Amino acid sequence: MVDRETYFVDVLVPLPLASYFTYRVPFKFNEIVAIGKRVVVQFGSKKLYAGIIVNIHQRIPNQSNVKYILDILDNEPIVTNLQLRFWKWLSEYYMAHEGEVMNAALPTALKLASESKLLLNPDCDIPQAQLTDKEFLIVQALELNHIITLTEVSEIVEQKKVMPIVKTLIEKGFVIPEEDIIEKYRPKTEAYIRLSDLYKQESKLEEISKELEKRAFKQLELLLAYLKYTNFFSGKPQEISKSKLIKESGISQSILTSLVKKGIFEIYEKNQSRLKKFTSSKSVENLILSEKQKESLRLINSFFETKDVCLLHGITGSGKTEIYIKLIEEQVKMGKQVLYLVPEIALTAQIINRLKEYFGDELGFYHSKYGNNERVEVWQNLILNSSKSYKIIIGARSSIFLPFSDLGLVIIDEEHDASYKQYDPSPRYYARDSALVLAKFHNAKCLLGSATPSLESYHKALKGDYGFVELKERYSKVSLPEILIVDTVEAFRKKEMKSHFSVFLLEHIKEALDNNEQIILFQNRRGFSLRIVCDSCQWTPECNHCDVTLTYHKKLGKLKCHYCGSSKEVPTMCPNCGSHKLSMKGFGTEKIEEELPLFFPEAIVKRMDLDTTRNKNSYIQIINDFQDRKIDILVGTQMVSKGLDFENVGLVGVMNADNMLYYPDFRAYERSFQQLTQVSGRSGRKNKRGKVIIQTSQPYHSVIRDVIDNNYKSMYNSQMEERVNYKYPPFYRIIKISLKHKDYSLLNEVAGKFADLLRPKLGTRVLGPEYPMVSRIRNLYIKNILIKFEIKASHKAVKDIINDAINKIHEKKEYRSVYINPDVDPM
Ligand code: ADP
Ligand code: ZN
Ligand code: ZN
Repeated sequence: MVDRETYFVDVLVPLPLASYFTYRVPFKFNEIVAIGKRVVVQFGSKKLYAGIIVNIHQRIPNQSNVKYILDILDNEPIVTNLQLRFWKWLSEYYMAHEGEVMNAALPTALKLASESKLLLNPDCDIPQAQLTDKEFLIVQALELNHIITLTEVSEIVEQKKVMPIVKTLIEKGFVIPEEDIIEKYRPKTEAYIRLSDLYKQESKLEEISKELEKRAFKQLELLLAYLKYTNFFSGKPQEISKSKLIKESGISQSILTSLVKKGIFEIYEKNQSRLKKFTSSKSVENLILSEKQKESLRLINSFFETKDVCLLHGITGSGKTEIYIKLIEEQVKMGKQVLYLVPEIALTAQIINRLKEYFGDELGFYHSKYGNNERVEVWQNLILNSSKSYKIIIGARSSIFLPFSDLGLVIIDEEHDASYKQYDPSPRYYARDSALVLAKFHNAKCLLGSATPSLESYHKALKGDYGFVELKERYSKVSLPEILIVDTVEAFRKKEMKSHFSVFLLEHIKEALDNNEQIILFQNRRGFSLRIVCDSCQWTPECNHCDVTLTYHKKLGKLKCHYCGSSKEVPTMCPNCGSHKLSMKGFGTEKIEEELPLFFPEAIVKRMDLDTTRNKNSYIQIINDFQDRKIDILVGTQMVSKGLDFENVGLVGVMNADNMLYYPDFRAYERSFQQLTQVSGRSGRKNKRGKVIIQTSQPYHSVIRDVIDNNYKSMYNSQMEERVNYKYPPFYRIIKISLKHKDYSLLNEVAGKFADLLRPKLGTRVLGPEYPMVSRIRNLYIKNILIKFEIKASHKAVKDIINDAINKIHEKKEYRSVYINPDVDPM
């Protein structure tokens, strides 16, 4: 760039705003501005933000006082052009602001902003019950949004002076304040030792050695050790860290300090990676595929000659992972990158263990429970795009945001899984579909894998949009498990139910334990008991802030709301009628965990659900303990069902299949089939057929029958018929618009007006507004409008209509406080 020319940059700021903002480049930065670098800009009257340069140009903006950019934070761009295009696509498709996409994409430690803000104190378990109402509102907003500004606090509590409330929250240690532009990422450094320049001359070195020999023999010893371990006389000495030198030489720290004081040694700091390095021990060539696996691999590759996407429908235990390994190896050999997506963080750990044996340090991983600094280092590793950059990333949904430079293949394992969808906050993206688009941007191939594909993907495969490969045999011909049904109504009548266990299930658990086999018990609800109910008037405690009943958690000794996290004391008396007869209805994982020792006092029982896996490493611990057979019976929610591969599970028990089937959602049957098939797939050993016992009051339900017969096709056909008839995906697209406000009647008014704005153009495609099943969460009432439109219709046109309506509503000042959140392709 020519030195004295005037340049402008368009900057994307991390705010939910519709446009870029133009700033002028000071001459001194002319040489270093570049797209993808972070800049510090002033926004509004005082606030500073780190934004990203998305354009550089010389068009003079027609606003009056264009501000200068204040600083450029990066030496090299931290975001690629391709990523910026991808963000734009995400923002348009999922109806989110680009600033929101940027917020979701960048690792927290790369984001910065000034202005006083509040954060929840991560080390404090906030006693919700002790908060005042206003404090509660603030804490709630923080749980929802992670960070809020003081201005936002004042809006939330509806008063100007907020410092007194904020101060008490800070004093109690519940929240922490943040100020100024801070670089949150801190490289980890380590002290290194080198010889100072003077003593690099051999004559000087000799001189000082002689001197030390006479007066300070230990110091000489250390100097010699340094020369030895760094290979000093080779001409190309290696670097050595202080700790290593001390350890290897066995000489104390104080001797080293003396040498530094004398100016013989110098200490310097070097950045260290926090990332785990793996070493490979196996070669992919020695991984021998079965004939069926080979055939599948061959088919996938031949589909990839003409198609971008291929669906691999391989039953549980068919060895899909090994096929992936072969495909990954081919890409790595060509110098391409691979993204391997898994739906659950718990799964990344197991897959990494399997893949590191083959790919060693070419393998990196990324997910939201990984530390902030570590995530920045993965990002930096990839953006460097050097020979040391990772070739393979295994990660959960957020890894689609990483700065890949040359993807050759994207693998989406368990492609049917709903965890690929982000619900809140915006962008409400669907990582599976977004990854397909990302692959397109890179001209990469995409492999979808599942034992229970989504109807959407299966439909596309049958139509020929995707390549389609079926693998119907388990590796080494192990049979699928035998599935047995217990009719709970009948068992109850015959008095063959002991609490939540049928006698039949208990007998099989005993048999498995006697055979030294492990057992998984599946219950898709966590907690101890669903709820407390008054025997005489049916009263049941509800959350003060949400429209839901509370769940009893025994370990906490409290009632807890699964929507907002607040808790209450357990009542001893019904406040409605005064009766003391309160009983527990329903049951969750915790209850099962507690009852098991009554039947099997010797067995070691552990539970895996959201409550027991909050800590960073607890889920890995549970999985490892189960793998090492330190646990006999594992009780869990769907977390235990997803793709995990255990060797010694002889029995899987489904405690109650009914609550899945009755879930009011058009995907309930598809989901039930998927969950039951997946959890059943955990049963079976290398040399022995596994057993599954499903307890249900609906033994003849079509979904249960399809699961027993392992008949995906039958489930698919009957469900597709429903989907056509009732206008659901994959035949129609859905956009769900949620409107939220704490004032019930204002919400009703706005929701009605909003629907009226849509109807003239969209007609009967507009459904609602309606209250959802849970119609109030965190003190906000909710009303939903559903737009269902033909798959062939232009979704751009539909989105334009929705956006116009949102703008119209927001023209009216009183309506602006109503949240209007579109969710495209809701799950
Ligand atoms: P899927 O992911 O399809 O459910 P996995 O890839 O977990 O199945 O394979 C099931 C089991 O069979 C695993 O323990 C795996 O190690 C083993 N396996 C599959 N293919 C091979 C192979 N070619 N060689 C050795 N073991 C294999
Ligand atoms: Zn009562
Ligand atoms: Zn609640």
